[in-house]
Amino acid sequence: MKVACPSCGSAPGTQLGLANSVELARCSACDLVFARNPPSDNRLSEIYATSYLSFGLDDSEVSRSLLTMKRRTFDLRAAQIEEFRRPPGRVLDVGCATGAFLCSMAARGWTVHGLEQSPAAAAYAAQISGCPVTAGTLDDLNRADNHYDVIHLADVIEHLRSPRAALRQIRRALQPDGLLVLTTPDVGSLSAHVLRHKWPNYKPEHLFYPDRLWITQLLANEGFLVRKITSAVKALTLDFALNYFRVYGPRFAWELMSPLMPWLPTPVRRVPVQVSAGDMLLFATPFEPRRVANA
Ligand SMILES: [Zn+2]
Repeated sequence: MKVACPSCGSAPGTQLGLANSVELARCSACDLVFARNPPSDNRLSEIYATSYLSFGLDDSEVSRSLLTMKRRTFDLRAAQIEEFRRPPGRVLDVGCATGAFLCSMAARGWTVHGLEQSPAAAAYAAQISGCPVTAGTLDDLNRADNHYDVIHLADVIEHLRSPRAALRQIRRALQPDGLLVLTTPDVGSLSAHVLRHKWPNYKPEHLFYPDRLWITQLLANEGFLVRKITSAVKALTLDFALNYFRVYGPRFAWELMSPLMPWLPTPVRRVPVQVSAGDMLLFATPFEPRRVANA
């Protein structure tokens, strides 16, 4: 099945070749890089069902070390959010995965609600964080309009079949002076340019690949003003990086690292190190389209 641009609906423009089984194309109308062969809903469900397990959540020691690593990332992000908004306030984490962001924000005095498509991850997130977590998507969000002060999406938007529809739902759910915070892989990043078709963010569950200009324009079209856009910093451990390279590539990184790993003590392999890995982080606020006088 070949699809049109998931943002503007134009027929595929330039073909960019194959990257990790993703057929890349650049939209001739809006310039978005996207997958011409996105997986079916059933295939996506299979991918999501196995992706959490592949990172060892069934092993309590591995999951504790993963949580520590992700908490490091999200403690840092919480501090960046608080440059714009201070607690108390209501936060929605869309695609909260296993709940590390919920833990970081709740610990700082925010009232946090998670939304997660995978029922297993949603149950885990609720248990870990003690916060309410709804198993579902933005369509299942049962809240009054203008309810949230902050809405956060970490590595979520690139998974959506209709990013515009999601941003409309988010704008409705957000207070008029609320804050949208999102991270997504940046196809204009240095790592994307250097690694080209071996960039590990090319994967079947990523349906499109924005750069900073494109996402700024998308947000402007949906009534958001980008206030700040920067490289997202993540805390990663060697164990996590090795597992990631094993599953998603680049293969040469896995081949370089794996012979060294048995020589490194476990604590060294599990120390979180801050890296900027080709994702962008942006902060945006809603704006009202200018009204014509006396209209
Ligand atoms: Zn387009």
